[in-house]
Amino acid sequence: MNIGFIGLGKMGAPMASNLVKAGHSVTGFDVAGVKVDGVADASSAADAARGKDVVITMLPNGDILRSVYAEIVPAGTAGSCFIDCSTVDVDSARAAHEMASKADLLSVDAPVSGGVGGATAGTLTFMAGGSEAAFAIAEPLFSIMGQKAVHCGPAGSGQAAKICNNMILGISMIGVCEAFVLADKLGLSRQSVFDVVSTSSGSCWSMNTYCPVPGIGPQSPADNAYKPGFAAELMLKDLGLAQDAAESVGAPTPMGAKAHALYRAFVDQGGKGRDFSAMIEKLANDPR
Ligand code: NAD
Repeated sequence: MNIGFIGLGKMGAPMASNLVKAGHSVTGFDVAGVKVDGVADASSAADAARGKDVVITMLPNGDILRSVYAEIVPAGTAGSCFIDCSTVDVDSARAAHEMASKADLLSVDAPVSGGVGGATAGTLTFMAGGSEAAFAIAEPLFSIMGQKAVHCGPAGSGQAAKICNNMILGISMIGVCEAFVLADKLGLSRQSVFDVVSTSSGSCWSMNTYCPVPGIGPQSPADNAYKPGFAAELMLKDLGLAQDAAESVGAPTPMGAKAHALYRAFVDQGGKGRDFSAMIEKLANDPR
């Protein structure tokens, strides 16, 4: 396929590179002038989109997505498929779909889970929203860049699934961190907490796979001085998107709101650039 790829940052660059390795012809554009081996350079986003079978975007936020779509949609070929893999608010995702549909383009919102490691290894999970026809075009590319793709429903459903998942993750990580802080103060060993909880009803990904204390459980950012991994500011972004979405549909999310406030405080107090599991250090130092 002839693919345009716009946004060659920490995630986009390795994703584009995996498409090249699989034999696709990829033309890329990034405002920062990033170059990726094997990816042809375009002089603008519109240039990267013009005449392509598929156009993929991997951008920082919904405002940038809307402005890039305003540029690339008019350059798209009718019948081609636009796939947005950025994590953005549901409203921006739906607006992007609408712009594409008015220009007779197929479109998919397909945010990812798996981080830079998953993007590099080609093991991302894609959560997709859009028509069956659009998903059918995107799916073979998802299977190159990732190991799983779930078609969640119509336009915006991928973003909706992503923020629901990450809201649970933020809440569960705080819960696990709180449990370790409480256990420390009760004189319980961290190993005992892990051995019991990871095989009991409190088990969850934040405990079993991504344990926030060093030396316990499988290797995780805690064993690497909390180098991300998944940075606290990205968790803050996703929890903010979940709160915006909850507000717009009137869904009560008291734990999501609390998690958002705690990650806001953590990022403001020096958590920026650290893994989101370093939340345990904030909680250990906070007064009751
Ligand atoms: P990044 O900041 O490294 O990359 C974004 C890129 O977009 C940058 O290179 C930037 O120069 C480029 N860009 C900005 N405006 C542009 C424009 N107008 N035209 C062309 N390029 C433009 O961010 P990232 O970590 O690669 O994340 C990208 C998206 O993926 C975000 O929405 C993020 O929330 C999501 N995401 C990131 C991770 C992660 O672990 N990094 C995990 C899952 C999802």
